[in-house]
This record gives sequence, C-alpha cells and structure tokens, in this order.
Amino acid sequence: MPAPRGTADGVGTCVLVCGAVFDGVAEELSGPTEIVVRDGRIAAMERTVEHPDGAEVLDLSERTVSPGFIDTHVHLTMDAATLGRQTLASSAAKALTGLSLAQEYLRYGFTTLRDLGTMDPEFPTVDLRDALNAGHVAGPRLVVAGHVLSSTAGHGDVRGFYAPRWDLPVSTVGDGAEEIRRLVRREHAYGSDWIKTANAGGYFSAGDDPARPTWFDDEMQVLTATAAQLGMPVAVHTGAAAACKQAIRFGARSLEHAYLIDEEGIEMATHAGTYVVPTMQMTQEDLQALAAGTLPGQAVWKFSRDNQHILDSQRLVAASDVKIAYGTDCGMFPFSHGILEFQAMVAAGLSPHRALKAATSVAAELLERDDLGVLAPGKCADVVAMPGDPFSDIAATARVDFVMRGGTIARRPSDP
Ligand SMILES: [Zn+2]
Repeated sequence: MPAPRGTADGVGTCVLVCGAVFDGVAEELSGPTEIVVRDGRIAAMERTVEHPDGAEVLDLSERTVSPGFIDTHVHLTMDAATLGRQTLASSAAKALTGLSLAQEYLRYGFTTLRDLGTMDPEFPTVDLRDALNAGHVAGPRLVVAGHVLSSTAGHGDVRGFYAPRWDLPVSTVGDGAEEIRRLVRREHAYGSDWIKTANAGGYFSAGDDPARPTWFDDEMQVLTATAAQLGMPVAVHTGAAAACKQAIRFGARSLEHAYLIDEEGIEMATHAGTYVVPTMQMTQEDLQALAAGTLPGQAVWKFSRDNQHILDSQRLVAASDVKIAYGTDCGMFPFSHGILEFQAMVAAGLSPHRALKAATSVAAELLERDDLGVLAPGKCADVVAMPGDPFSDIAATARVDFVMRGGTIARRPSDP
C-alpha cells in the first residue's frame, strides 16, 4: 500500500510489547502493556492485545515506554559557534544543515520540535517543516516561528555583530505599531506557525541587556493583537521581571527563558495559563563556558552579573504550579546536550514526573496538538523507549534507544 500523500505517518501494523509505560500524564508508571500501532496511530493499548496477523512484534519488555519527547525551543539553522560565517550561507544550505541536526536529534527521542527563529532573510525552517511534515525527508515533525521580531538594538537585532558596510539582512527589526504590524503579517504570509519575539535583551546578543525590556507596551500590544487576529500564538523571549509581566499581560502563550522572573510574575503566569519554557540546561552550559573562559565576550558581563539570579528564578519556577514546557535553545549549544534538560529540571526542583510531562503532554498542549504527547488509542504513534525507570532515575531519559515517529521506526535498540 503506498504511503498516504502529505503525511509522514508510517503504514502497516506492529505491536510494541512494553515492560512499563508512562502515558504522558499518569503519576505512576503502568506495568507491562501491549500497544498496537496501525498506519501511524495507536490502535489499541491494553495489558495484552490480540496480535494482528503479519504484524511485526517489537520486544520492549525490558524498557520503559513514553510518548515521544517534544523540544519546544530549538534553532536548527543557528550555530552559536559560527554566527558570523553562517550569515553568508544560503537559505537552502541552512535548511539542509537543519535537516541533519533534526534527524540526529530524533535519535535521542525528540519526535516533535518547535523552531523559534532563524537569522536568514528567507524562511528556511518553513521549507524544512514542509519537507519533514510531508514525509519527503525522514525526521521529527516541526512547528516553526520564522524569525525573532525585535526592536532596533533588541535581542533579535544582530547587526551589532557586523561592520555597518556589510548591511546583511539577518535581523527582523521594527519599531512602532506600523512596522511591527507589517512584520507579523509577513511572518504569517510566509507560513510561520508561531510569532516569536523578544521583549528583553539576551546574553549572547551584543548591545542589549536581558534585565531591560525592549518593547514599549503599545508595541507589545500591537504585536500580540496582530498575531491574534491572524490566529497565531506568540512565544516571547524574555528576561527582566517587568518584561515577563508585560508578555503575560498582552497574552503571550509562552515565556521563553524568563531569566529573571519573580514571584509575582510566576503567579500572573499561573493565573493566566501562560506556559514557561525555562531552558535550564542552557544556564548550565553558560556557567561551564563562563568558568572555562569560553563564553562570548558580549555575554560575559551580563551573565556574570545575573547567573545567580537566573538560578534563583528557575528554582521559584520549579517550586510553583506554573505550566512548564520542555525547551532547550539547542543551536545555542550542541543538540547532543538537549536531552540533559530533563536532568537540569530535576536538579532545579521539578519532580521527574513533572519534567516528563513537560516534554510530553504539557508541551503538546502548548503546541495545541491533542494528537501528541500522550499514549492512548487514537493518538499519533510517537513512542520512545529506554532501559531503566525515569521516575526514580531521570538520567534514564538519556538512554533512549527506541524511537518511533508517526508509526515509523527511527531507531531500534539493536542500532549502533
Ligand atoms: Zn532561542
């Protein structure tokens, strides 16, 4: 039977014989379970099921099975180590590099990624998403925000890296209502799923400060109102406590990093239902780089001043009831470390159960994808398996050796 057009879902039937199952929600692992996967979906899930004729039977009886992991904050076309050189690469080259990173990342168990922005005048991640989601190339499914909409001299204004004579179109910058409206409309027209913006400075960018808001209220208001009118959710890179609160007040769906959020901001986010994507492993990476003397010069003064404050804010987030989604910012550090966010979350005070939900059911809810993040009949067959029990040892998540995306097996325990 030919694969259905316009979908990467696998065809055929198989049975997963699971030792234990985290279904994406339940507070405890369920014991031995059998899952029937048919044409990319979970057809049945019981203690034992009838094995359909001709179905491949996969023995995962020594493993814990979980919904595929979702990383809601990556940059497949940005490599912090070579930001300068990359701006001279074509959009096609960036899409191809992004494809190989996405495929590598899938092997760690990440079956869905949200890419939050490229430094490219065109839309390479939109093209990559379309190729992946249509099944023209193998890899995880992708949700994208094309660019980081930014004020002049804000976090997304990367012109500070280059001499003015270069005049490279690598930033998506606007000021005031009229320009911002145009930027949002352009993202929509070219196929972004999300609007990404920065309303405070960042650490790796030059000429800005994470402890300072960069949009005025009227600018943030017009950005979110235009996005809402076009049916697009908004993800906000944010830092300063005041900037976090601004993003919540104007209806951001997710706060990215929220480096310096305070207790009042966390309470506002909890009340408003705003998701926080705290990118905790990145802070660990930056701490190591600071100690090793390899943190980029423009980041050193800001990160030296703020790192304790960031860790304190992360502990406040972990101690609250706010909705936390798994996101890493990979691209800013190697994709091979993205799986360590689980361990960083638990080190900051999240329970393993909450960290696992952050990467499955809660992340799916953030993306408004009720077919993902949960193992149940009718859901997408995005499934991973790992030896060990991640509820008692969160590091088990770094030992995933079986990955299925939409019913297609991307990695088997026997693979090298
Ligand atoms: Zn980012």
